[in-house]
Amino acid sequence: MSNSELRRTSELQLLEMAQRFFDAAADQLGLEEPLRELLRYPKRKLTVIFPVQMDDGSVRHFEGYRVQHHPVLGPTKGGIRYHPQVTIEEIEALAVLMTWKTAVVSLPLGGAKGGVRCDPTQLSLGELERMTRRYANEISPLIGPDIDIPAPDLFTGEREMAWIVDTISMHHQGQYMPGLVTGKPLVLGGSEGRDTATGRGGFFIAQETLKHLKRSLKDARVAIQGFGKVGSNLAHFLQQGGAKVIAVGDVRGGVKNEAGLDIAALQRHVKESGSVVEFPGSEAISNEDLLELEVELLFPAALENQITVDNAERIKAQMVIEMANGPTTWEADQLLYERGTLVVPDILANAGGVTVSYFEWVQDRSFYFWTAELVDRRLKRVMVKAFHKVLTTHLQHRVEMRTAAYMVAIDRVAQAARARGLYA
Ligand code: GLU
Repeated sequence: MSNSELRRTSELQLLEMAQRFFDAAADQLGLEEPLRELLRYPKRKLTVIFPVQMDDGSVRHFEGYRVQHHPVLGPTKGGIRYHPQVTIEEIEALAVLMTWKTAVVSLPLGGAKGGVRCDPTQLSLGELERMTRRYANEISPLIGPDIDIPAPDLFTGEREMAWIVDTISMHHQGQYMPGLVTGKPLVLGGSEGRDTATGRGGFFIAQETLKHLKRSLKDARVAIQGFGKVGSNLAHFLQQGGAKVIAVGDVRGGVKNEAGLDIAALQRHVKESGSVVEFPGSEAISNEDLLELEVELLFPAALENQITVDNAERIKAQMVIEMANGPTTWEADQLLYERGTLVVPDILANAGGVTVSYFEWVQDRSFYFWTAELVDRRLKRVMVKAFHKVLTTHLQHRVEMRTAAYMVAIDRVAQAARARGLYA
């Protein structure tokens, strides 16, 4: 199989996987067929192909996407990712996950996702800006503060959000529209705590998971796959809370220290060298071996399809908390459940990001900004409440935490869809 065929199989898997998780929860809920049909597929899918002028004067075409899964509860919401292997199927699957993610934490939003197939590390700053502005223009018929609100995802951040909001505002006689995207710089109406929100939310979930299993964070052994914005912030909060982060990895490889890595020093090393590899005082470890370490807590915080039938039997962590979207396959999830490993699913564990995005959107709409303490307190309240709702469902119905999270989410969306009825 060629690389592109292999990749295609894994995207289909992600979409298929999201549907299997959906079906398992829908069966438990006894969801009626018309609602299953309605919620199984995205409502809108847009593919755009657009030209960008490169620095050498040539013109290159890029393919981009925006998919909206369901706006039953409110405007749709979700990030935009830049990655060389992004496809429409992957974006569809991720848009579906966003609906369940916003619903499980009770936000009045639906799910969406966007992306551009590109290698951002190979583009100059000027090329990146021209590509971002042109993509924003291409998807502009579908987005808006009351319709669909983009945010950062893989390889996008404050800088890209600022370009997007500026581009679209220019189409509205220059009238600034802060509620159009979230994850903006503070000075443009961003929120305190948004940049660390996903890691912070994961930290609250880890605390609750440990409490449930009557374990303490103090000296708990932790491995984190991924040391981008999510993984590095999470590592910082866990270490502050007393945990021992013994291994972390990024695209170039991993590092390990049985006594616990110094996260602040590691963050400085990454800033200087661009990667965790060769961090002084650590041993090298592959990303595959990192997943199989003997730890209490394992956080996949990178890409999808990391825990599969090929390695699930060798996972020794007692708790797996999914900070990436879709890191565990359906079959691996079943295997881990049978072995008694507690897996806290992505739609719950990494919902901190979209929760503070929602706070940002609320602040932008009222032009009144909250303190970092208030954001943190409200984020904690949302995450803890959602965790306990999912935990209760998990215990009552004797299903995996993932099925329980999907049940909570689907039930909420289904109630709204029933109440709204059918417009004919
Ligand atoms: N991209 C993030 C996610 O996958 C955040 C989305 C948002 O803030 O809208 O949850």
